Amino acid sequence: MMILRAIFLWLPTAIPLMAQDFSALARVDMSASQIIDTRRGLSVELALSQVVPYRVYMLDAPTRLVLDFKEVDWTGVSEPALLNADRATGLRYGSVETGWSRLVIALSTPLLIDTAGVVVDQNTGTAQLSIDLAPTDPETFAANAGAPVDPTWGTPRFPAPPENPDGRLIVVLDPGHGGLDPGAQRGGVKEADLMLTLAREVEDALRRSGQIVPVLTRNDDSFVSLDARRKLARAVGADVLISLHADALTEGQATGATIYTLSDEASDLASQQLATKLSRDDLLAGVDLTGRDDQVATILMDLARQETEPRTATLAEALVEGLGQQGVKLNSRPLRRAEISVLKSPEIPSVLIEVGFLSNDADLLALQDPATRNRFVGGILRGVLLWSISEAKTDARRLR
Ligand SMILES: [Zn+2]
Repeated sequence: MMILRAIFLWLPTAIPLMAQDFSALARVDMSASQIIDTRRGLSVELALSQVVPYRVYMLDAPTRLVLDFKEVDWTGVSEPALLNADRATGLRYGSVETGWSRLVIALSTPLLIDTAGVVVDQNTGTAQLSIDLAPTDPETFAANAGAPVDPTWGTPRFPAPPENPDGRLIVVLDPGHGGLDPGAQRGGVKEADLMLTLAREVEDALRRSGQIVPVLTRNDDSFVSLDARRKLARAVGADVLISLHADALTEGQATGATIYTLSDEASDLASQQLATKLSRDDLLAGVDLTGRDDQVATILMDLARQETEPRTATLAEALVEGLGQQGVKLNSRPLRRAEISVLKSPEIPSVLIEVGFLSNDADLLALQDPATRNRFVGGILRGVLLWSISEAKTDARRLR
């Protein structure tokens, strides 16, 4: 059997010459779409309202099939309707970055792409994407897994540093999750949506302070990897990164605002659970962790971290103080540590605020209430300003 490592399809030049609107999104026709077991493997059928460029590849640990499209509207798609197979255990779908879409199929067993192709109906312009997967062994799978290297697909485009003539603090606000990673969900509430709302409210308050230039890592419902969020902060010259979350944690009955800073060792079980959960969210959304260059320049990064660590600790304390002053309900142990990759910038003080936990009824209600959110907004602003005062004092001491 020929092994196809990854398959690309770019817009064919000879597609039906009819009223094709390529700016429109392709819709999924659920009546002609399904993911089912075959005799030995798996069959993926997706009926699209028009042909779009796509690519398909496998990722390992966990075993996944990833389909990227330019671009699909997932309205009406549901996992129970689409997925009816034992060799596939779950789906994630949604936008990954403005301009493209992703479907991730979690596999229960190693499978490789046997055939993949699109048939376009000459009369209607609709497209049928068919992928057949055949069984393989874990070693062959691992050897063939990995995202294809193509800079035009999914390489995040980072914004340039913002205009900042009077040298204000640049604060990157990072609303957690988004796109095919909704984060915690409870009673119709998605953490990704809630955090975007909160981040926009904080952004507004920081800007109005006249002392801070805020930048958001995402300003729509699209997926951005933890790594890309960190890199964006660096690209815009951030002085501070504040990641906003409200996860659902089962460990230790988490409730109340909690501020996490980076550590290779989790401060407790709940912190460990959070770190594992966040990196798993990234993986399930189709992030390829093979071939990462994080080990490069480790010593230099360690040196920079030594300098940044006390500043990060001061930032976390200032945020606890600011939130407390605004009457925000804090966790009984509001300062915690965990190995979370979005916090790994060696030179930028970075914190992750769990503003509350969607797993807790009181927190869930509080976060949906604009008046309560306003306390978070005030508390974060207050915390950042308190921190900047202490930074200015440190700078002044250094200059003496
Ligand atoms: Zn989260």
